[in-house]
Amino acid sequence: MDPSLAYKELIERSHELGVLGSCARLLSWDEETNMPSGAVEARSRQLAYLAGMFHDRQADPRIAELLSIVAASDLAADVESPAAVNVREIRRDYEHAVRVPRSLVEELARTTSCAHQEWVTSRKANDFGHFRPWLERIVELKRAEAECLGYSATPYDALLDTYEPGATTAAVSDLLGALQSDLLPLLERILGAADAPDASILHRDYPVDKQRALGEAVASRIGFDFSRGRLDVSAHPFCSGIAPGDCRITTRYRVDDLSEALFAIVHEVGHGLYEQGLDPSAAGTPMGEAASLGVHESQSRLWENIVGRSRAFWAYFFRPAQEQFPAALGRVSLDDFHGAVNHVKPSVNRVRADEVTYNLHIVVRFELERALIAGDLAARDLPGAWNEAYGRTLGVVPATDADGCLQDGHWSSGLIGYFPTYAIGDVCGSQLFAQAERELGEQGDAFARGDFAPLLGWLRETVHRHGRRDTAAPLVRRLTGGPLDPGALVGRLQSKYEEIYRLTPVAASR
Ligand code: ZN
Repeated sequence: MDPSLAYKELIERSHELGVLGSCARLLSWDEETNMPSGAVEARSRQLAYLAGMFHDRQADPRIAELLSIVAASDLAADVESPAAVNVREIRRDYEHAVRVPRSLVEELARTTSCAHQEWVTSRKANDFGHFRPWLERIVELKRAEAECLGYSATPYDALLDTYEPGATTAAVSDLLGALQSDLLPLLERILGAADAPDASILHRDYPVDKQRALGEAVASRIGFDFSRGRLDVSAHPFCSGIAPGDCRITTRYRVDDLSEALFAIVHEVGHGLYEQGLDPSAAGTPMGEAASLGVHESQSRLWENIVGRSRAFWAYFFRPAQEQFPAALGRVSLDDFHGAVNHVKPSVNRVRADEVTYNLHIVVRFELERALIAGDLAARDLPGAWNEAYGRTLGVVPATDADGCLQDGHWSSGLIGYFPTYAIGDVCGSQLFAQAERELGEQGDAFARGDFAPLLGWLRETVHRHGRRDTAAPLVRRLTGGPLDPGALVGRLQSKYEEIYRLTPVAASR
């Protein structure tokens, strides 16, 4: 067979998988936003059916034949070419699919779909005992999946690799260790500061319709295209790049909290800008897909924290915010508002954590999920281990399991090995932003004018348009010449918080 015809057939099959995947994503988005609760069972059958169909097509032996024809030709000889990246990634997906039997894929889909509902119930009732058997079953299934996928050092490596290809337990352990040892001294200095911002100004009366109006204005201004996307409400904020031209983001509003919904919007817009920036001509192929969860999170955390919590950003947006909320913010100064949105306080809650303590929440989850998969921690001992780890790492202990080991839905959805991608993304995002400013110049003045186009343009060129070419570590290597390194993140946080908390500057430790 002519290699170019073989490649053409591979791409056609990739397009078909893209369409199938987009149908599943639309069903999942609907489940989180609009679906009546009575439809849970029907929806889990629909999703399991599509998952099985997707798996069969991805593991079709015809794909192996086509791949070997293309590999033997010079079509993919230049490893940097889009065709070579497509072939490499289609092979990766194929090998992943053939190693995991369809029965396990379906069992995981069925179990996690029910377990997620049971988790919601258990969390509401603060009843870990109710969720425990589900967690035990999921850990068992994820261990089986890791054995099918294969690994070199530890089963956790196989799970991590599904979210951040190429990442290893050892490398993540080093990265989190470095973050912890650099962030704890900064945290201590912040907690010892005489002068802390007043975060209570964010907890006044903030009518939800006004919050939505401000959130949409911010999203549009920084570049989210509402003609190719939507903003809705869900229990947990997320972004789903459903199909080209269709990116859905969500948030959740509370009338007594301005920052939760707003920063969730900026975070999800960061994910959405990535999805909307993917190359439309490569849609339905790996070159038109996001690279990894770490790279995805680098975009969301960059926009949420580096841009969205900067003083320059609020130099532009504080006036529109005051216009929406004259009673709550009319007499507040820009500096006080900027301080409030950067208030640091160790807490038991990951989602609402500030930038300094956020990664310590990841440290706890990484330690515990690794122990669960290794068999060193039994599910029944999780609540005690969780509380002990929080006390040791953040100096706070949750009062209930609902605020403790039941707070995140990841494990109930089978997402074990996922949490480290938040820290990888955070580190990567800081390195990308530092590189962007090296190339474009300091961006504060542009942000203060409401001009986010230079930064977005740079991210489009260097990250979004490259599809699955590079995961986080190779991406950082391509753009900066160096490895994934917490130095940029830690240095940025040090100078930011020295200013906000009026700390005596110390030289960056790394
Ligand atoms: Zn995110």
